[in-house]
Amino acid sequence: MRLLLFGAPGVGKGTQAKLLSLKFNIPHISTGDILRQAVKDETELGMKAQEIMNRGELVPDDVMIGIIKYRLNKNDCNTGFIIDGFPRTTKQAVELDRLLHELEITDIRLINIYADEEEIVKRLNSRRACKTCGSIFTLAEIENSDHCPNCSTKNSFYLREDDKEDVIRKRLDIFRKSTESVLNYYEKQGKVISINGLGSVDEVNVELLKILSN
Ligand code: AMP
Repeated sequence: MRLLLFGAPGVGKGTQAKLLSLKFNIPHISTGDILRQAVKDETELGMKAQEIMNRGELVPDDVMIGIIKYRLNKNDCNTGFIIDGFPRTTKQAVELDRLLHELEITDIRLINIYADEEEIVKRLNSRRACKTCGSIFTLAEIENSDHCPNCSTKNSFYLREDDKEDVIRKRLDIFRKSTESVLNYYEKQGKVISINGLGSVDEVNVELLKILSN
């Protein structure tokens, strides 16, 4: 199975990608996670990306294409993968096509998860990340907890810079302007499956699995 999970920031791509990755035992490749890890590790890439990410803008195409090429050439991608957060521009989509062609991969599908923008703003602004492991939780999930349910670090929750309301609105704006052309690109190829992201995590997952089994 080879999927591209597509949708506005906060629509639930990462959560669904993780569930599918566990179910089908294929890697979950999140370009946002790769960049956040680089920032944490203070690599050259991380230093370049940090400010751009904090402003909610897009990291340059060439950098992103380099990251995806490197990652898809690893052996664990041989049997399938789920890419979350890439491509975000038509140039990235064209370069991804070129790479998949080289790798003789033809069965790619794009899952378009859509949701109302105001709901997305509410959702993102009320989620918290663990500064140690990067896991994301809703406020309700960590209401009575002072440690991360994933890695147990105490008092590690924070509101990501790019989950603050002004930055969220900017990310949504960028998504609308530069990312929706990606959807058209895949629609022309008949590779898009659309799904409403506004149910609970389980509801969306059940729906997704149903669609994928068809
Ligand atoms: P995400 O966690 O997918 O929302 O990504 C967080 C941030 O990483 C984005 O707001 C961008 O700054 C950057 N980023 C992630 N993926 C890409 C991409 N494919 N192209 C450009 N920038 C990206």
